[in-house]
Order: sequence, then structure tokens, then C-alpha cells
Amino acid sequence: MSSEKFVYSFKEGDGKNKQLLGGKGANLCEMTQFGLNVPPGFVITTSACLQYLEDGNKKLPEGIMEEVREQMQAVEKETGKGFGDGSNPLLVSVRSGSAMSMPGMMDTILNLGLNETTLQAVIKHTGDARFGYDAYRRFIQLFGKVALSVPDELFDAEFDAVKQKAHVTADVGLSADDLKEISERFLEVFQNHTGRPFPSDPYEQLEIAIKAVFGSWSGKRAVDYRREFKITPDMANGTAVNICTMVFGNRGDDSATGVAFTRNPGTGENKLYGEYLVNAQGEDVVAGIRTPKPIDKLTDEMPEMARQLEQLRQKLETHYREVQDFEFTIEQGTLYCLQTRNGKMNAVAMVRTSVEMVDEGLISKEEALLRIEPAYLEQMLYPRLSTSNTVKAVAQGLPASPGAASGMAVFDADRAEIVGRDQGKDVILLREETKPEDIHGFFAAQGILTSRGGKTSHAAVVARGMGKPCVAGAEGITVDVQRREAKIGEHIISEGDVITIDGSSGNVYMGRMEMVEPEFTEELNRLLRWADSSAKLLVMANADTPPDAVRAVKYGAQGIGLCRTERMFNATDRLPVVIDMIVAEDVGQRQAALDRLLPMQRDDFKEIFEAMAPRPVTIRLLDPPIHEFLPSEQQLESDIAKLKHLRHSVRGLSVLAGSMMLIENSENAKNDANSLRALIDETQVEQALEKKELMLKKVRMLIETNPMLGHRGVRLGITFPEIYSMQIRAILEATAECAKKDMEVNPQIMVPQVCTAEELKYVAEMVDNIREDVEKESGQKLNFKFGTMIEVVRACMRAESLVERAEFFSFGTNDLTQATFSFSREDAENKFLPMYNQNGILQDNPFEVLDEKGVGKLMKLAVDWGREVKPDLSVGICGEHGGHPASIDFCHRIGLNYVSCSGPRVPVARLAAAHASLKNDK
Ligand code: PEP
Ligand code: MG
Repeated sequence: MSSEKFVYSFKEGDGKNKQLLGGKGANLCEMTQFGLNVPPGFVITTSACLQYLEDGNKKLPEGIMEEVREQMQAVEKETGKGFGDGSNPLLVSVRSGSAMSMPGMMDTILNLGLNETTLQAVIKHTGDARFGYDAYRRFIQLFGKVALSVPDELFDAEFDAVKQKAHVTADVGLSADDLKEISERFLEVFQNHTGRPFPSDPYEQLEIAIKAVFGSWSGKRAVDYRREFKITPDMANGTAVNICTMVFGNRGDDSATGVAFTRNPGTGENKLYGEYLVNAQGEDVVAGIRTPKPIDKLTDEMPEMARQLEQLRQKLETHYREVQDFEFTIEQGTLYCLQTRNGKMNAVAMVRTSVEMVDEGLISKEEALLRIEPAYLEQMLYPRLSTSNTVKAVAQGLPASPGAASGMAVFDADRAEIVGRDQGKDVILLREETKPEDIHGFFAAQGILTSRGGKTSHAAVVARGMGKPCVAGAEGITVDVQRREAKIGEHIISEGDVITIDGSSGNVYMGRMEMVEPEFTEELNRLLRWADSSAKLLVMANADTPPDAVRAVKYGAQGIGLCRTERMFNATDRLPVVIDMIVAEDVGQRQAALDRLLPMQRDDFKEIFEAMAPRPVTIRLLDPPIHEFLPSEQQLESDIAKLKHLRHSVRGLSVLAGSMMLIENSENAKNDANSLRALIDETQVEQALEKKELMLKKVRMLIETNPMLGHRGVRLGITFPEIYSMQIRAILEATAECAKKDMEVNPQIMVPQVCTAEELKYVAEMVDNIREDVEKESGQKLNFKFGTMIEVVRACMRAESLVERAEFFSFGTNDLTQATFSFSREDAENKFLPMYNQNGILQDNPFEVLDEKGVGKLMKLAVDWGREVKPDLSVGICGEHGGHPASIDFCHRIGLNYVSCSGPRVPVARLAAAHASLKNDK
């Protein structure tokens, strides 16, 4: 017999060892040991599960059933009941539970231990035949489905047949005899489907159930879930099995069952939040079969139980120091706690409860910061419905997970996957209720809408965990999956119709609605201020225009790490001037256009400096290939063809004007002919045509096979020095104007695409000359820095020579990733990258998650070599990775000074920067 201990009673298991006992099992042990009223039971370890799955011959590891029998005897002793006993039988639940919570992903069996003998004993003991048969039929169905894959539909058909025969619509209307008939029919279904009678020996039932729960770890649902949420074996490996004495919430009106959170998981309010059903079993609440009552009502219905529940809430929070999501059952006036786990909350609630727990002295600021996954804050940055919407809601359900979303209604998860994931459309998954097997539909949908179930139903819990909007239990909606439509009053929603749901109010609307950007909560501001004082990395924003800069400050950016000046060129009043600059035939013409652009750029820079002062503003000189500002060759060809056609028509009309006098030689006809001539001035058409032809010629000249590796960045600045001169002058004149007003501004001029020290020197000399001019003209001493982007492999390799002219480095990891992998950043993500990720050739998309091993290694070399020459060299990152938490952690580890990312990602980056120093600098 193996010497490994596989089974632990709730009284002895180590509540901290979730890897071995699973989250649920560990918590059952812990709750038992700190004195909560948990029904007696025991846990079989995840190690047993792994050995069972590895073994392959479907045998439990040796010795387990002996240990189970021993533990069962202890439970029998404690409860005074006997497993399989003919007078006072012990019934148990058998539940899965791995180290990471995977709600609804694995299997559970209730009422195990029932057979024809124990059933009669239960009936006799409780004096309630209806209760006994109800428990029995539930057990047969669950056992059949979970342990031997008997399809639910076979049971449901029999259930409905008896309901119909008895002329009842709700389950509660069924009599003991009806339920007896149902259980007999279920036994037949079981036998017909499996070819064997329903096992009556409780230990045989138990062994089959344990194997089934173990097996569910490698079931499709669980495997998909782990893949989607990137749950790796070191996070959770195998499931434990929890065997727990059954307690019944369906023993009459003094019994109930419910699910609650110690604080509100939607708002964070410090108040018990949950739902319960009188005279019901737990699965009725979770499955959304009956719509439960809000927990407040319990005070009226069972005041003593409500008081005890409040005590339970306090005990759970003081012990776990984290919001708990727990299940309870009241059996004939006794309150039991059946399960607890850390509550999954939306970001608003997560932030509020964490900040308030610091205020309450329950946790430290560091714990509060580390408790929240940075990416989770993205939820607080999601759109909400604009208040200016006047459209009336067509239905209302429960506000089950906040945020708003619009999309095409789809009626099943497969369809959601096709339309949402494959066709890339926004979809709302609209179901009567959802089940764990619908999980792929959740991933593909923007939001979830159900017509049944409460705020703790499957749809609500899963959507909240994913941060997707959900409206649950919108009972005014009738869903007809067959006809692929839903009815709301007189409205019909057909599949594909666009609807909007508001998970914060529970409202459902027809059509697409206007959304607004979300606001920061005061709690989030406080949390992020704590984050800033813990973080070593500064967090800057990528902001290109004055309004972007204002927004960046709102998000808490400590400066601008990248201002892409070309974005300013795209405004409608500037583009024509930029085009004039590009199509210029000589330097004189080009300079004339640049002279018009200069004041525009200078004013933009001034506004940005003012918005950010005194924070640094890093302005990158022009980077993209200039053909990007011109229309495409095809567009121009088609415009020219149209203009030629127009010229032909105009010529025809002038002939007509000239001929009008032939028709009628009068003063009136002469006037008409003249006004027609004025209208059809051919020179305008000629000029337009000439310009387009010039543009086409230029476009053809500028065409490159690989524009991203072509005439861009500093190459452009050196071949057309007047462009960079204008930009440098605009920056320095704006600086001088601010200095004149005694405003402290800190501009940084940054050169893109540099690969040799000579390039940088060339631009640095331009800067020196212009600085001299501007200082002379303005009488101001200019304060600014000059640096380079590092986004070319050679720049990394030559860091020690670049640093001679550069006062700072900023990694452009978008281009650096492209250059390191030789993957086109324009195409790779739509072509082979998804397949590479699916097949595990690459773990992540390197344009999203910084490739530490390759790109990161280059970065580290560049930092080290640069700082060998200039130890105080400031180094940052401004590629997309600057907003990605794991990449930020890496930037911290290689000693960067700052990260820069798009404005809405700044809060996420601030928290990630704090995590990086709290986790790495212990
Ligand atoms: C980069 O390459 O990482 C970068 C920030 O520049 P852009 O994305 O504008 O090329
Ligand atoms: Mg770049």
C-alpha cells in the first residue's frame, strides 16, 4: 500500500495548502478549524487525481478507498448517521475543487448514498415522502449525467412527461407520487442508456463518483477554461474531491439555501449582498431555475438566521481579510456554511473594497495594491451609456455585471463564436439561461443577456469575472432558440438585430446606443497614488495632440513619453499644407509650405507643454514614410479619370453657352449664356487635375516595396532637412514662448529610426544651430533634452556610441519587435501569428507581450552598454508594450526609468509599475 496520505478530514487538512487540497477543500478545512459550522467531511487530494489520470487504467491509486472508509466512519460517528444505513442514512455531496477557482467547470454530485433502502429510511426519518423522492430523482440524474454521461435531455423528457400528465407547470407543483414516478422513470433511463442497473451500493456509488470528478479535470470544458485563462499546472494541477455531509435547504419553510458576498461585488458597498431561496437546494439558486430573493428579505422571513448570517459574514472577513463569496444552507433553523472563496468582483468593487479594507485596518496598502491585477482596472475604463440617450428601454433585467455593450443578438454560444470571433462582429449572447458549456460564447461576446436567473446565476458570475456587461433574468424576454428570435412585448429580435445592454442598470435597448468614457472613482485615485509612491518606474503617456495631453494628465501620466508629431499633420486644416510640402518641386516651394506649417506646430507644442507643465514632453520628429499623407495610387487614378470626365462635360457646356445665341438672339439669352460660362470655369477643373497628376507622379516616385524599412524616420530628416528644421524650430520657439511666461516646461526632442551615431550627430548639429538662433531671437535660455529612439537592432548594438549625443533612450519596441523577429508589424497578426500561438510555436503575440528572451535581451544590452558610458542615462519605452503589465515588470527588472503607453492604459501601467517594485525589490 502506498505511504502517501490521500484523504484528509476537514479537521486536519492544511487550510493554506490549496495546491494539494484545492481551493474549496482547503477553505472547508480552514473554516472547520476556525470554528464555523461546516457539515463534517473530508478531502481527497489533487495528487490522487493526477495519479489516477496518469495511470490510464481507470483505477484509483491504491489505498484510497480504505482511507475513504476510515474517514467516512469518522463522519458517521460525528453525525450519528450511517453511510448506507437502513434507518438513519448519511448522504453526502461529492464536489470538485482545484487550486484555482473555475466556476462550474467541473462536476458535482449531490445526495450520494441514496438507494431503495436508504430512500425509505430518509422518508421515514423526515416524514416527508416528497422530499425523499425529490432528493432521489436529483441524485439519479446528476449521477447518471456526471458519472456515466447520460444526456440531460433523456431525463428532461421524462420529467416533462410526468409534469404534463400531472397538469403542473412548476416543479413545486409535483406531488410525492409524481416524483416517485419520475425517479422510477429515471432509473429506467439510466439502465437503458448505460446497459446496467443503477448502482445501489453507496461505496460503489462513491468510487464511481470520485473517478468521475477526477475525470472532469481533463474534460473539454475545464481544459478550454484553463487555456483561455492561462491557468498553468503550477497554478492548479488536478482537482481535489470534497466529500461533505449533505444538509438540506429544502426541508420546509424553516429551511433555505443561498449564495452571498460579504460585500457588494458590483459596487463594493460594505454590506452583505446575495440571494436565497426558501425550501430549495443550492443548485436551484446557481442554475437560475427559480428567481431568488434578495438577502435583505431574510431579516423579515427568518430574523434569527439573518442575525447569524451577519455574524458569519464578519467572521469570514476578519479571518480571510478579503471579500468572500460563500454558500450557505439553513436546515430547519440551523445555519451551515458550505463553501467560501475569495469573491470575484468587478474592478470598481475590487478597488473600493481594497481601499476601504486599508482604512478599516484589515490590510496594508501594499496588500491592497498587490491584490488587484493591473489589467483588471481596464474594466473601469470601459464605456457606459451616454446620459443623452433618450431611447426607451424595451426590457429590464437584473444589473448583473456593469458596463454597456451593443452588438448583434445571437442565440447560442456556437453562433456567438462564428459571428463574434470568426467574423469579428460585436455580438450579444442572448439566452434563456447560460450553462458552463456556453463558455466559448462568453469569450466571443461583448455582453450577455439572459431571461432567467439571478445575480449569482452562472451568466452573472462568469460575465463579472470576465468584466463583460451582463443583464440577467430579464423576464420580459421570451427566447425561441429554434426560430432564432426573441420577443419583448411587441418587439421581435431576430438573430443579427443589433441590441444594447446596460449591465449597470439592467436595461435592454433595441439598436446601437451612444457610449461615454468612464470616470475615475475617488477610490481608484487613492489606490493609484499609493501605487505611484511604491513604483520606481515613472508612467508617461503616448499623446499626440493637445486634447490627448489633457486626457493623459487626467489618467495620471507623469509626462509624455511619445508625441507622434505626424498625427498633428492629419487634421483637416493641415493636410493640404502637408501635401503641398510633399509635392513641392523644389526646396523653395517646400520651404513655403513648411513656413505655413511652422506656426501650427508651434501652437500645438505650446498647448501640449502648457497642459503637461512641468512634466517632460517627448516630441518625436517626423517618422512615417511621407507617402502615408498622400492618397493611394488607385484613389488618385480614379480621381483623375473622374476629373477628365468632368473636363469633357465642362467643355461641352461651354460649347452650349456659345451656341445659345444661335437658338435665341436676345438680351436674356445672352445673360443666361454668361452665367453659364461663369459657372463652368474650366480653369478650376484644370487646376484640380494638374494637382492630382502631380500627386500621382509623386506617389509613384515614393512607392517602396518595404516602406516600413524604407525612407522614413531620421532617413527622411536627413534627406529633407528642411522638414526636421521646421519641427525643431517649432519645438524650440514654443519652449521660448513658455519660458518668456516663466512657465517651467521640459521638452525632449527625440529622433526616430536611428541606427548610426552619425545620423544622430547630423540631427544634433541641426538642433544646436537652431537653438542658437532661437535663443538669440527670443533672448531666452532654452532648457530641453535631446535623445533617440532605440527601435533598430543596430541601435541596440551601438548603444555606447549613440549615448555620446543622446541624453536619453526610448525603446520603440513596436519596430524593435518587427526588426528582431523580421515579422511585419502590419501583417503578421492577421496571417501566421494566430496559428503560431495556437500551436505553441510562440507563447504570445510578441507585438502585445514583450519578447523578453529576444527583444528583451537586446534591450538589456543597450541599457547596460549605454550606462557604461553615461551612468545616469535616462531610459524608457514607448512601444505598445509600455502598457502591458508583464512587460512593465520586465522594464523594471532591467532598470528602465519610465514606461509610456496610450492614455487609457496609464492607470493599468501605474499599478503594474507598483507591482513590479513590490514584487521584485523585497
Ligand atoms: C515603436 O516603434 O515602438 C514606436 C513607438 O513607434 P511607432 O509605433 O510610431 O513606429
Ligand atoms: Mg517606431
